[in-house]
Amino acid sequence: MRRPAIFLGIIFAQIFLGIMLLGISAWCQTSGQTSGRKPSQRTSLPDVYLITIDTLRADHVGCYGYKQVETPALDALAADGVRFTQAFTHSPITNTSHITILTGLLPSVHGVTDFGVPLPPQHVTAAELLKKRGYQTAAFIGAVILDSNTLAPGLDRGFDFYDNFPAKTETKQRWGRVERRGMEVVSHAETWFEKHRTGPHFVWVHLYDPHDPYEPPPPFSEKYKDHLYDGEIAYADSAVGHWIAFLKKAGVYDNAIIVVTGDHGEGLGEHGEETHGLFLYDSTLHVPLILKIPAAAHHGAVIDVQVRTTDILPTILSATGVAAPAELNGESLLPLIEQTKTAQGPNRALFGETDYPLRWGWAPLRALRADNTKLIEAPRPELYDLQADPKELKNLYAPDAAKLQTMQAEMAQWKAKVPPPSNSAKPGETLPDPKDKIEVQNLLHNAMLASDDNRSSDARQFLEKALQLDPSSPTALRQLGELELGARDYTKAAVHLKRACELRPDDSTAAFELGEAMEKSGDWPGARDALESSLKIAPGQIAARLLLGHVYLQLKDAKNAADQFEAALLVDSNNSVGHIGLAEAQIQQSDFAGALPDLEALTKSDPRNTVALRLLARAYRGLGREQDAKRADEQAEALEKKYQRN
Ligand SMILES: [Zn+2]
Repeated sequence: MRRPAIFLGIIFAQIFLGIMLLGISAWCQTSGQTSGRKPSQRTSLPDVYLITIDTLRADHVGCYGYKQVETPALDALAADGVRFTQAFTHSPITNTSHITILTGLLPSVHGVTDFGVPLPPQHVTAAELLKKRGYQTAAFIGAVILDSNTLAPGLDRGFDFYDNFPAKTETKQRWGRVERRGMEVVSHAETWFEKHRTGPHFVWVHLYDPHDPYEPPPPFSEKYKDHLYDGEIAYADSAVGHWIAFLKKAGVYDNAIIVVTGDHGEGLGEHGEETHGLFLYDSTLHVPLILKIPAAAHHGAVIDVQVRTTDILPTILSATGVAAPAELNGESLLPLIEQTKTAQGPNRALFGETDYPLRWGWAPLRALRADNTKLIEAPRPELYDLQADPKELKNLYAPDAAKLQTMQAEMAQWKAKVPPPSNSAKPGETLPDPKDKIEVQNLLHNAMLASDDNRSSDARQFLEKALQLDPSSPTALRQLGELELGARDYTKAAVHLKRACELRPDDSTAAFELGEAMEKSGDWPGARDALESSLKIAPGQIAARLLLGHVYLQLKDAKNAADQFEAALLVDSNNSVGHIGLAEAQIQQSDFAGALPDLEALTKSDPRNTVALRLLARAYRGLGREQDAKRADEQAEALEKKYQRN
């Protein structure tokens, strides 16, 4: 371990102790203002500003010794605060890692180990705790993967304002649809702050820029054209700089607690991993952590003790004097800061987790990083001496390897504290080691990016290549099926989706999409079977119910059709497709009187609905009301002609 870069003498220690004795609330009232206007509030509680920079490797930040990037804002913040050189995330996945930061819980404890998994209500977040204490709380996110309406349900809990993405946008560009540039995120935060000047504030700003694809705006695109990842970091740093300058101008900087960290790093080709998520090497676990607290004594301190992102929430809570929830997996960093004035504190073991490989049917990984050693539990386990081999290139795993037993025993203790992976292999089944699948994963990731950008032919090429390497990849098959569905090649789509369903019989989406492909190619019995099996896995899918109802109508099975439309209407009673379908099923069964009320109501509320008008005519005719039937038909015909003209 390196010695602290800054030796803090006895005078600083005395100042620090004095401050500690005065108590936390006194911190908040110390020191003058940096510059600009008077503070917008005087409160006994310090503002808390959390800044997470996505996909930020610690070793690509200026103050962490990297020479090929300029990060003046982060460097200045580190000079005003405490910089942890050995900070590690528990998870290389964006939403999992952020939930860990905001709850202080390990991924398998909070359970959000994949996108779209809701945060269980019993786990309390930083925003909830601070809001209860009287904080104004707001979050500004840079990517749709943290949108609480879609991919990160529950992450907005406790925030008065959570800056989600619009539900629908016309643009096909990624900007504004799936991602916001750092400056836009920060400008949203600043606009909010202007309207909510009374503190205390808890504001979380998430800057997504360093996440791939690496497309920094000018002048960073030009200056860093040969290393665009660094260009994104430099650009994100400029957004941090804008935010910090704003906080200074608002007069809230000096008394604020500011935390900057990364949710995970980036593979950049190390171990064959281009991005992040699959592995637990330091390339994706080592993140920067800068903590500015309102106490002058800490300026520029550097701490080399190993710490974790679960330590962030306990630190915020002890620095604000807010009571901590009973269950926390990390510990406050404040005692450590005090201790490093004179001595090194104890290293904190890092338990790393990734269930991301399960998405592709590969083995989840667990890692323990302690005492400069890392044990990675995988089908082919790994053991690294991090002091001699910081790049983790020489796997020392062997039954008699030094430290193996100690590490295994400690790993067992950690694993006993947490639930096992939710989707473990069946007894006797060994899932593939992610190390053997990294090339496939890189291709799948590139295909996903290409699809996001509407570059279908690129996406198809990546997926076909992935299938050559791994012909039984359910993800590649499903994505290829989706591409063909979009390209209206229903026969090809059905072939891929059928294979995806065989490989992953619990994938309700693949089964639904197979149903769609078969329905579009007119294979009614095939569509019926696929949709029935999709609904068996996930009964709440309205779209699948409506489509199945339609398929039953084509099969002249009106009774089953009616059942499906009724089930859909139970979930969404205003669904007009459900009402029309149900009426058609009733007409097929000659229940004209039953169909009439719904159709009359529908044509009244939506007089231009020609499908409903045609059905209404059939219902009237069935009841012998020829005049009414004729009128409804004429109305429909006039509208149809009008639409044709347009
Ligand atoms: Zn991320």
